[in-house]
Amino acid sequence: MSVAAAIEIKGWCPGALRPMESGDGLLVRVKPRGSSLTLAQASGLAEVAGRLGNGHIDLTRRANLQIRGLDAAVLPELHRALDRLDLLDPDAGTEAVRNIMVGPLAGPEGRALASALGEAVAADRKLVAHLPAKFGWLVDAPGPLSIVGERAEIALCVLTAGVALRVGGRWRGIMPHDKAVSLALAVARAHLDGREIPTLGRMDIVPAPGRRTLGAVARLFGIAAPFGRLETSQLQSLVALATAAGASELRLSPWRALYVDAPVDGAREFGLIVDDEDPLLRIDACPGKPACRSASVDTRRDAYRLATMGFVGSIHLSGCAKGCARSASAELVLVGCEGRYGIVRNGTARSLPQQTTDPDHLAAVLRG
Ligand code: SF4
Repeated sequence: MSVAAAIEIKGWCPGALRPMESGDGLLVRVKPRGSSLTLAQASGLAEVAGRLGNGHIDLTRRANLQIRGLDAAVLPELHRALDRLDLLDPDAGTEAVRNIMVGPLAGPEGRALASALGEAVAADRKLVAHLPAKFGWLVDAPGPLSIVGERAEIALCVLTAGVALRVGGRWRGIMPHDKAVSLALAVARAHLDGREIPTLGRMDIVPAPGRRTLGAVARLFGIAAPFGRLETSQLQSLVALATAAGASELRLSPWRALYVDAPVDGAREFGLIVDDEDPLLRIDACPGKPACRSASVDTRRDAYRLATMGFVGSIHLSGCAKGCARSASAELVLVGCEGRYGIVRNGTARSLPQQTTDPDHLAAVLRG
């Protein structure tokens, strides 16, 4: 099979150098290298988001962060600040293709591989010029937090026998460790040219995905932000806790959870989630009104209300039928339309609602 047939990609993504208009101003996406922030970077980012933006920071499903509520006039200052924090790429093209997600428990070999891959992609001007912005890479190793189950056009999993390669959704074989970067790049180039995937060594076992786990896990401590949104004060408080605990970094994940490399105590006190049973974890909610122009309902305010009502299934509140916060089906989906919610059971934001309700009558929906 050709690489082009194995991979289908649409659309574009914002970056720090390519801001996107949103309901609360411009948003920029910051892509920490290795999906990890030093505590100094995290603190600096919080300071910048509070001083130049509106103080809201999104954790994205590609282990990146978004600063919101920016005015075009502050972009030069923002870029200088991000550059000082080593969180800025040299140009928008390089930034767009540097989509390498690294698992929170990836060891030194995986991190070195991701770093070498990032440099090689950035140095390949053909890839920078032509690779679609949504072309995603993933680097990890097996383990309880392994992200190998996440979407990536090219995934690399570091094993003892070599580096396993997944293209599109299929594992293709094992590469020698020292050939992994060059072979992965060859696959990306083959994608652009419509050529065949290079032949690789046989693999007998497919890497198993891990899952989001909060609290103490392996040598990390997992903390989630409700609906993937951190306020600058929460991030600064988390940095203070992590510093006191002797941590050195915050690792990002596609699960909108952060992993601190030391046990921290007290994050619940400032509104973060440290318990896998927290009902907020079962609720996805897009930014909604007023952050998004397409929304006519305050999804996150209503999500907090729903979290106290005892519904045990998955819930998706979407400001409109686009369904940005969740593409998978949920047991209860509330889709905003002209100030009311359309109600879908066991479907997505794009499903046809069976009835509608006023946001103030959500408790009746759960009873029904
Ligand atoms: S789902 Fe609609 S309202 Fe929500 S963030 Fe996306 S476009 Fe905006």
